[in-house]
Amino acid sequence: MRPIYFDYAATTPVDKRVAEKMMNYLTLDGEFGNPASRSHMLGWMAEEAVEDARNEVADLLHADSREIVWTSGATESNNLAIKGVAENFAADDCHIITSATEHKAVLDPVKHLQTLGYSVTVVSPGADGVVSVDAIAAAMTDKTRLVSLMAVNNETGVINPIVEVGQLCQQLGVYFHVDAAQAVGKIPVDVESWQVTLLSMSAHKFYGPKGVGALYVRRRSPLQLKSQIHGGGHERGMRSGTLPTHQLVGIGEAAKLLNAGFTEEAERIGLLRDRLWQGLSALGDVTINGHPTLRTPGHLNVCFHGVDGEALMMAVRNLAISSGSACTSATVEPSFVLKAMGLSDSQAHSSLRISLGRYSTEEDIDMAISSFRDAVSGLRANPEQQQG
Ligand SMILES: *Cc1c(COP(=O)(O)O)cnc(C)c1O
Repeated sequence: MRPIYFDYAATTPVDKRVAEKMMNYLTLDGEFGNPASRSHMLGWMAEEAVEDARNEVADLLHADSREIVWTSGATESNNLAIKGVAENFAADDCHIITSATEHKAVLDPVKHLQTLGYSVTVVSPGADGVVSVDAIAAAMTDKTRLVSLMAVNNETGVINPIVEVGQLCQQLGVYFHVDAAQAVGKIPVDVESWQVTLLSMSAHKFYGPKGVGALYVRRRSPLQLKSQIHGGGHERGMRSGTLPTHQLVGIGEAAKLLNAGFTEEAERIGLLRDRLWQGLSALGDVTINGHPTLRTPGHLNVCFHGVDGEALMMAVRNLAISSGSACTSATVEPSFVLKAMGLSDSQAHSSLRISLGRYSTEEDIDMAISSFRDAVSGLRANPEQQQG
């Protein structure tokens, strides 16, 4: 039997309306042309579809369509943003600030730059998972050129004070990059009020296809972003490669659905999340990791004290959930995000991420509560069944 999906933070299914639209851009009878082909109608039709998608994504971020650079996803967007800023400076003249709770797709490019001689400060979050503007301010030096801070954490759903950090960066003339992969479609994203220079997003986190995303690059900024993929000069030279029309139609349609409004959906998901938390907290000795209210509606990272998370996950195999971050689940290391918030190894190992989304129902929630109730009471009654 297919498990009930509770891992929307890892990826979302493609909305059927999105998939249907994408199908029209693949085959001979569809608009399969190369958007860069200027000499015939099939190229123009594909280009029009790509530009329609660009407008939808720009609207979603309150950006201008000329500020959207297509990429293969948030990993590439983060790499382009961080390396694309850093290459403007000599290594010994460039200090970068980021946070300990970032996705690896930010931490690893920053680490790479560190091996090249760039200096880096990795700021710790508070126990609630929030990275404070004071902590960022305290890390600033006269050589700080870039701050990279995620809007919403992928493991906890905790929201960072992006407006305040944007203001700080603006005052100090420091470029500001935001990884918004977990924010888009969950909280309002506004590149103007956030005062960001660069912002990463990924379609598969908001009911679009995998393998496509965008980087917002502010036009009214002195920044000359250095391209990381050289080739045909696509995307105004910032990212070469033939544009994948069907993928871009997909991200555009997914953005269009959000542009029609997502507050009702967020409220519905928030109520389901509250119902789930009520059921889980009744089990006793269960806590939420991360700030209680500064969080997205669909996210719960729960510590089941005294219960091994891996054993618990095995016991609720009818639910598709995640222990720690999906991206590190190949290793048995405790989540570095939870550790950075001050959780012990054993608390981190007792924690699971449960994330809800567009297709979650009340019946799903009630099934999850009863599965967890049976599993947790079983494991607590028979601690020898737990490995660790
Ligand atoms: C999923 C995710 C990424 C990676 O996005 P891809 O499009 O899968 O490369 C980066 N950052 C955050 C916060 C994410 O949640």
